[in-house]
Amino acid sequence: MKPVRTHTFNGRKYKIESVERINGVTDLPGDPKNFEMLVLEGNDLRALHSAIHEGLEGIGCCDKCIHEYNDKGLPKTWDVAKFLWRLGYRKSNYA
Ligand SMILES: [Zn+2]
Repeated sequence: MKPVRTHTFNGRKYKIESVERINGVTDLPGDPKNFEMLVLEGNDLRALHSAIHEGLEGIGCCDKCIHEYNDKGLPKTWDVAKFLWRLGYRKSNYA
């Protein structure tokens, strides 16, 4: 599989950028017609979680669903990432 360069969420095309670190930024300010999404590179649970998290933001999921923390101090979306990871979901194009 080729690396994902763009993806359309909710009718809005995002440029997808893989980065080593995210500082809490999803939509970069700038031209309102050019949307950019940052996801963690790598093939681990954190990278999967960042893709799920940003994807949910991309579709306009409610802030509470995405950004609230569970009683362990982890984002609620972490449980979804962990579930998919346990089911075996991994990147197939990552060396
Ligand atoms: Zn977020």
